[in-house]
Amino acid sequence: MRLILLGPPGVGKGTQAKLLSQHYDIPQISTGDLLREAVSDGTELGKQAKKYMDQGDLAPDDVILGMDEDTLQSDKCKDGFILDGFPRTVPQAEWLTAIMNKLGLQLDGVVSLEVDDQVVIERLSARRTCVDCGAIYNVKTNPPEKEGVCDKCGGELILRDDDQPETIKNRLDVYKKQTEPLVDYYSNKGLLVSIDGSKSIDEIQTEIKKRLK
Ligand code: AMP
Repeated sequence: MRLILLGPPGVGKGTQAKLLSQHYDIPQISTGDLLREAVSDGTELGKQAKKYMDQGDLAPDDVILGMDEDTLQSDKCKDGFILDGFPRTVPQAEWLTAIMNKLGLQLDGVVSLEVDDQVVIERLSARRTCVDCGAIYNVKTNPPEKEGVCDKCGGELILRDDDQPETIKNRLDVYKKQTEPLVDYYSNKGLLVSIDGSKSIDEIQTEIKKRLK
């Protein structure tokens, strides 16, 4: 199974990708997680990406494509993958099409999670992320047992820099301008599966699996 998850920031791509990854037993490739790891490891890639991430802008395509080429050709992706946060621009999508053609691989579907801006703003403001294991909580709908502490690993839960209110607006603008054109791109290829992202985590997961069958 080779899938892409598309959707605005905070729609729940990461959460759905994790569940699908367990269900289909294939890796979730999150470019955001890979970049955050590079930033905390202080690598060259991390240094290049950090300023864009902090402002809610996309990292330049050449930074991202170098990173993804290695991942997609790695052994762990040989039986499939779920791309969460990639592609995010038309050039990235064109690059992916070319590389998959080169490797003789086909996409099975592109799941587009759709919600209103107001829902995005509410969800991102309430989102807390574990600094150690990356687990995601929502202080309103899915709070940890102890405030500020991850249930899974005991790590500290923080509001990501790019989930601050002023950055959220920019991320939404960036999504509309640079990423939303991918909805048409994949619809024209007959691969798009549109899903209402305002429902509960379980309802969305059930709907995705049903539509992918
Ligand atoms: P995410 O966790 O997916 O919301 O990603 C966090 C940030 O990482 C984004 O706001 C971008 O700055 C950067 N990023 C992640 N994926 C990409 C991508 N495919 N292209 C460019 N920048 C990306």
